Amino acid sequence: MKQYPEWIQEVNGELWLTENDRGNMQVSYRLKKIIFSKESSIQHIMIVDSYDFGRMLVLDGVVQSTDREGHIYNEMITHVPLSLHQHAKKVLIIGGGDCGAAREAVKYKHVTAVDMVEIDEMVVQACKEHLPSVSGNLADERVQFHYRDGVQFIAEKRNEYDVIIIDSSDPVGPAIQLFEYGFYEQIKYALKDDGIMVCQSQSPLFQQELVKGIYEKIKDLFTHAAVYQATVPTYPGGFWSFTIGTKTTPITTEHIQIQDDLQTNYFNQNILRSCFMLPEAMKL
Ligand code: SAM
Repeated sequence: MKQYPEWIQEVNGELWLTENDRGNMQVSYRLKKIIFSKESSIQHIMIVDSYDFGRMLVLDGVVQSTDREGHIYNEMITHVPLSLHQHAKKVLIIGGGDCGAAREAVKYKHVTAVDMVEIDEMVVQACKEHLPSVSGNLADERVQFHYRDGVQFIAEKRNEYDVIIIDSSDPVGPAIQLFEYGFYEQIKYALKDDGIMVCQSQSPLFQQELVKGIYEKIKDLFTHAAVYQATVPTYPGGFWSFTIGTKTTPITTEHIQIQDDLQTNYFNQNILRSCFMLPEAMKL
């Protein structure tokens, strides 16, 4: 009898992955097979092949990115700030071990350097090898990998980046600090004067207080702040928020033209405009 982690069940000879969201909701995916399964010093890392979503990156039993729709999240967390900035050269990504955000960032010719700060090297290696549809086997020379805690890394940086992307996992374990006021303050210092930061800010349906709290912190620290949304089918509720903060750049999409040769599957000019249009209950 094979030993699986608690989120994998064998039912009538079939494998299922069950993600438990906050103890209130369970979502199960039928699997074809488990491709990779290892415990790193940080978390349990799995890459599985599922019937509906293709390959999926699963950290501690939580789905992070998939073949079928990983591009939605990665395009939205990257192209919104990079489009608003217009001429970013230096980009920092904190987290983002699936490499999808870095892969999107290097689609801009004006981007000359991307620092990818991921606490867990094994996530990057597993995704490069087993999740190429998301990671693109990322080998662009502009991307430099730093296997460190993002909180420590940012404390040493001042006035250096045009865009900072906080592509964290949920606020548990080492990612908790990536949602704190003191961390956002360091992000502000690490940005240049016309710099832009963005973070994934969880579910507007199930974590309203958290979404509001993140927005309040960013609004307090930055000159301009806004929340935008996208549909990410494998995140609880399918409806996801991102929060953006800028030091001087107004957050308006009216005069923004996205790079004309940008190859995407989800993001486009109309999505850039509409993602800032929020439902009544999400207005902050
Ligand atoms: N798209 C995903 C989502 O929202 O569910 C998250 C992308 S990515 C897989 C999140 C990464 O953040 C993980 O690989 C994790 O190892 C990394 N991470 C968590 N805490 C971190 C920290 N303090 N510093 C750097 N990376 C961190």
